[in-house]
Amino acid sequence: MVKICCIGAGYVGGPTMAVIALKCPAIEVAVVDISKPRIDAWNSDQLPIYEPGLDEVVKECRGRNLFFSTDVERHVAEADIIFVSVNTPTKNRGLGAGKAADLTYWESAARMIADVSKSDKIVVEKSTVPVKTAEAIEKILTHKSKGINYQILSNPEFLAEGTAIEDLFKPDRVLIGGRETPEGKKAVQALKEATGANVSEVAYAVGKDSRIGPKFLNASVGFGGSCFQKDILNLVYICECNGLPEVANYWKQVIKINDYQKSRFVNRVVSSMFNTVSSKKIAVLGFAFKKDTGDTRETPAIDVCHGLLGDKAQISIYDPQVTEDQIQRDLAMSKFDWDHPMHLQPTSPTAFKQVSVVWDAYEATKGAHGFCILTEWDEFKTLDYQKIFDNMQKPAFVFDGRNVVDPDKLREIGFIVYSIGKPLDAWLKDMPAVA
Ligand code: NAD
Repeated sequence: MVKICCIGAGYVGGPTMAVIALKCPAIEVAVVDISKPRIDAWNSDQLPIYEPGLDEVVKECRGRNLFFSTDVERHVAEADIIFVSVNTPTKNRGLGAGKAADLTYWESAARMIADVSKSDKIVVEKSTVPVKTAEAIEKILTHKSKGINYQILSNPEFLAEGTAIEDLFKPDRVLIGGRETPEGKKAVQALKEATGANVSEVAYAVGKDSRIGPKFLNASVGFGGSCFQKDILNLVYICECNGLPEVANYWKQVIKINDYQKSRFVNRVVSSMFNTVSSKKIAVLGFAFKKDTGDTRETPAIDVCHGLLGDKAQISIYDPQVTEDQIQRDLAMSKFDWDHPMHLQPTSPTAFKQVSVVWDAYEATKGAHGFCILTEWDEFKTLDYQKIFDNMQKPAFVFDGRNVVDPDKLREIGFIVYSIGKPLDAWLKDMPAVA
C-alpha cells in the first residue's frame, strides 16, 4: 500500500488529505502536526476548521485510510510521498521583516525529513513558497541524504477557504512542477518573474483560475485571509531583491488601498453618527474573513473593530463560526504575529472590555446605534430586520460592508443604510466628507 504523509494539519493539509483519502482508498494517508490540540481536534467530533462538506469526508475515511497524528517522525519515515503543508507567514523580524516569507517551519520540516528518512522519498511542496525554494530544500535533503534519493515536486494549492472541498473535488487547474518532467519544467518556468518568465504562459496559467472573474470580483470592506496579503508582501520583497522597485511599489499599493478601504469604512461609520461613536453600542455581524469559514486570519473585521475601539465604541460581535476566545486573541495580537505559534508571540493578549461576543445577531444588535456587516454569511440575508430595527436606538444605522442586504427594503423599515459602492442616503450625503 502506498503511504502518504502530510506535514501540517491546517486549512490546506487537512481538507486536501481527507479528499485524497476519500478518492484513493488504496492509499494510506497520515496527516501529522506538531500542534497536539489541532490533532486532537481532527480526531474528535469538533474538527479544528469549518468547511462545508468536510465533516462528511473525514467521517467516512478517518480510521480507514486517513489518520491524524502527532507522531511526525514515524509517519514521515514510513511514507513514500511526503506533502509539506506548513505555514509560511510573513517574517516579523530580521532581514525582510514585514514582507519576506518566513520559511522557518518549512526548513525545520525539511531537516526533520532528512534526519528520519531511511528510504527514497518524493517530497511535495504544498505551501506557498517563493521561487527557488525547491532548490534550497533539495540542498538540505541531499546534503544529509545517506544515499537516499529525493525527488522534490512543487504542487501549490489553489483551494479557497469556504469552498475547499468543492475546489478539491473539481479543481480548475493543478500545477505540478519538478526537475525530471518536461511539464514540471514548464510549470516552474511559468512561476518565475524577472528571471525569464514567458508572459504568455503566465497569462494562460492566471487566466485558468475561474476565481478571476465574476465569482470573486465583489466590492467589500476589504480583502482578508491568510494568503493574499502575505503573498503580495512576499512578491514585493522578491521584486525589490530583483532590482524592480517600480513593480514592488505597484504591488505595495494593493495593500495600501486595501488598508485605506477598511479605514474609510470606519470613517464612514463615525462621521455618519455625528462624528463620534464614543460609548455607543455598535454591533458587528460577521468576523471571519469570508463566509463558510471560521478563519479570521487577516480578516478586515480586526481593523474595523480596532478603528471603532479607537473612537471608544462599545462593540458587540456575532459570527456563527468564530469563538469569543479567537476574537479576543485576534484583537489583542499585533500585526504579523497571527500566523506564528502562540509561544513565540511577544505579548500575551488581554481581553478588550469594550468588546462583547454573543451567539445571536438579534442579541448583538439589541440597543445598538448601528450595525456593520463584515462577513457575507447567508443567514444575514434573511434576518428579521423589522425586529432588529424595533430593538435598536434611533436613528438606526446599517453599514453593509459586503452588500448583503437590500438597501431599499431596509430604508423602507426606517434604517439609514450605507452599502459599499452604492448610492448614499440623503442623510449620509449631508454628513462630513469621508477621507
Ligand atoms: P495553517 O497554519 O492552517 O497550517 C499549518 C500547520 O503546519 C499548523 O497546524 C502548524 O502547527 C503545522 N506545522 C508547522 N511546522 C510544522 C512542523 N515542522 N512539523 C509539523 N507540523 C508543522 O496553514 P494553511 O492555511 O494550511 O497554509 C499552509 C500553506 O498553504 C501556506 O504556505 C499557505 O500560504 C498555503 N495556502 C493556503 C491556502 C488557504 O486557503 N489557507 C490556500 C492555498 C495555499
